Amino acid sequence: TDADMQAEVVVLGSGPGGYTAAFRAADLGKQVILIERHQRIGGVCLNVGCIPSKALLHTAHVINEAKHIAENGVTFGAPKIDIRKVADWKDSIVSKLTGGLSALAKQRKVTVVHGEAQFAGTNLIQVKTDDGVKTISFENCIIAAGSRVTKIPVFPNDDPRMMDSTDALELEDIPKKLLVIGGGIIGLEMATVYNALGSEISVVELQDSLIPGADKDLVKPLHNHIQKQYKAIYLKTKVSKIDAMKSGLKVTFEGDNAPEPQTYDKILVAVGRSPNGKLINAEAAGVTVNDYGFIEVNQQMQTNVPHIYAIGDIVGQPMLAHKATHEGKVAAEHIAGKKVAFDPMTIPSVAYTDPEVAWMGLSEDEAKKQGIEYVKGAFPWAASGRSLSVDRDEGLTKALFDKETGRLLGAGIVGPNAGELIAEAVLALEMGADAEDIGLSIHPHPTLSETFAFAAEMAEGNITDLM
Ligand code: FAD
Repeated sequence: TDADMQAEVVVLGSGPGGYTAAFRAADLGKQVILIERHQRIGGVCLNVGCIPSKALLHTAHVINEAKHIAENGVTFGAPKIDIRKVADWKDSIVSKLTGGLSALAKQRKVTVVHGEAQFAGTNLIQVKTDDGVKTISFENCIIAAGSRVTKIPVFPNDDPRMMDSTDALELEDIPKKLLVIGGGIIGLEMATVYNALGSEISVVELQDSLIPGADKDLVKPLHNHIQKQYKAIYLKTKVSKIDAMKSGLKVTFEGDNAPEPQTYDKILVAVGRSPNGKLINAEAAGVTVNDYGFIEVNQQMQTNVPHIYAIGDIVGQPMLAHKATHEGKVAAEHIAGKKVAFDPMTIPSVAYTDPEVAWMGLSEDEAKKQGIEYVKGAFPWAASGRSLSVDRDEGLTKALFDKETGRLLGAGIVGPNAGELIAEAVLALEMGADAEDIGLSIHPHPTLSETFAFAAEMAEGNITDLM
């Protein structure tokens, strides 16, 4: 062809989905070009998502623990925060990881092309690079263009005091009064960070619960814990107006619980993310994009155009990095001729708040709605020696089992380290474990992991097959 470059596989976007797919395809012998508009590869997760947020949450955790232990006889005094140093440390982690990725790309002979990409045909993509527009012809393409922050157009988004998650991670300063619009995972994680750094936090959420969609039994301990530390949590409340005044951002609320208008120094808007499907000229390749900007795919991650695949945030919920990476592997392996499908029993979710909230499989609400007969085991961490020895008692481990067979259906955990602990439940579900399997597996004592076995034991007595 007369394209500037040719590839067996072109991957559009270098986030966790894209780089995983590119590396896997290269490992399977394909000649791969990876396209990324930013200077650094790694996508949202590595640059402005999962990783920098977790670094700052670690900082928050240490501050909170130091404060907390004063009650138990060890006093450190108020933290002195050098915000630039905190931000530099966070940036250094991102640099290490993106640098590592670039090295891995080189090792695998994956060519990285930097620039904004758009489809120009069913086997052609064009990239606006620093040296002009380059065309790349491909046999297969994997679209991994991800998602972006959802903006609310009526807000004064150009005001420097208005932040999205990317701005909040920059850690420009520590606002005295911060309003977080959106009580989902991202909003609450950033609230955890700024609260520990000293901001007075208010959270406003449209739904009747924080982390809408998560089991209410799990959210409640989190809600109770942060309510004591935050200025306010407004549920079922909408922000109807933000006036950018010199003295601050004046916010008008709407709803039954709506407070009088309040003024804040900064506002973080965390109301969700929108897929980038409409920004890549997909129609030129014949790829169907729905009204929201999502691209539909089959279990092999193929779009309606079989030699073009799509993975990650751009193909739908949940928008999580571990979903993207697994989908990326499936796409690459299918292109390489392997018989594969993306068919997980569950994709776990984690809010890295304090306490953490993690869940997987069927929730109790879903089980009820679907008319599935289940048995529940719920173990309160107030009875866990390990939890009390880390001076926490609000946690809960909850597991649902099929009433007849005893097989695990779903589990949820709230408490410190819930995100690490949920992995065992995912494995148990994938392996078809029942309550007895989990209860009889010897868990080390004293650990938080025991609580999963205890929850299973609590359910055992009510499972038909075991009676
Ligand atoms: P992305 O990571 O969005 O990457 C897409 C890439 O494509 C980007 O680099 C973009 O620049 C590039 N691109 C897009 N269009 C073009 C184009 N036309 N030309 C060239 N390049 C293009 N998930 C978790 O699982 N755990 C977490 O703890 C977590 N924390 C998060 C915290 C925050 C603050 C945010 C915002 C997100 C978080 N997420 C987390 C979500 C996670 O970041 C995403 O699910 C993940 O990054 C999606 O990966 P992806 O490969 O689909 O795309």
